[in-house]
Amino acid sequence: MSEARVAAERCAALGASSQQFEQYAARQVKLGELPVLRALPVRNRRLIGPWCFLDRFGPLTFAAGNPMDVAPHPHIGLQTVSWLLDGEVVHDDSLLQQALLRPGGVNVMTSGAAIAHSERTPDDNTGRLNGVQLWAALPDAHRGGAPAFQHLPEVPAFEERGGIARVFSGTLGSARSPARHYSDLVGADLEVHAAGSLAVPLNPEHEHGVMLLGGDATLEGQALDPATLYYLGTRRSEVTMASGRGARVLLVGGRPFGETILMWWNFVRRFGDVPGYPGARLAAPELAKLARPNPVS
Ligand code: MN
Repeated sequence: MSEARVAAERCAALGASSQQFEQYAARQVKLGELPVLRALPVRNRRLIGPWCFLDRFGPLTFAAGNPMDVAPHPHIGLQTVSWLLDGEVVHDDSLLQQALLRPGGVNVMTSGAAIAHSERTPDDNTGRLNGVQLWAALPDAHRGGAPAFQHLPEVPAFEERGGIARVFSGTLGSARSPARHYSDLVGADLEVHAAGSLAVPLNPEHEHGVMLLGGDATLEGQALDPATLYYLGTRRSEVTMASGRGARVLLVGGRPFGETILMWWNFVRRFGDVPGYPGARLAAPELAKLARPNPVS
């Protein structure tokens, strides 16, 4: 995904050395016509493990049109990870890969040095859209690597009495995603059953964050708000969530990323074409908007 505003932002891992329970309000942005809650990067330009970007879209229903319609645009230095709770998204890229993403599957695109892609609601759709897109920063040693795209129609999961953990990235409990990543991370969708309590094991060396994706859930007695990202810090070997009506909760985490990254939306000509998309690519921004001073450097 991308947005028209162009800014260079220097980001570093939150990297707490202890347990935390911090709240960061997500902000409303528009992705074309699609309203999105942007939960990462959080205030003070921080990331969680290598996760540097988190967009939450939906749940929404529509009778016509393609609410997600992001024309071809480039990425460098990161992986995009798309996960749906409902609806569908078609990915096309400059490697000529096309994939129809449905709930339960994951799309992982590794930009390496350069890739371009588009993402859109297919014309043949359910009229619903609900999901997230995450970006994981690539460590410097892999930033210039070959681009790649991976579509998994389903991801590993494990079930406890209180719910189900679907692990789209990294390892959680007994589930290990075959999605290829370049740093130690986890990304999972935790389904908490109605009147249930779900405990999942965590790597205490990782920092973690959670976001409520649906239903109702409490964590350490606090009700989770769907427009807030909760940062849990490190040194946790387990997290437990309880729900009355049932819930879906996104869990992201990873070893605190040891590198400061520069986030910058860029649109340059050396990226390939995306012939699968029926239209023009996104226009490049004006160079005058290219960067702004970074007060935290
Ligand atoms: Mn994108």
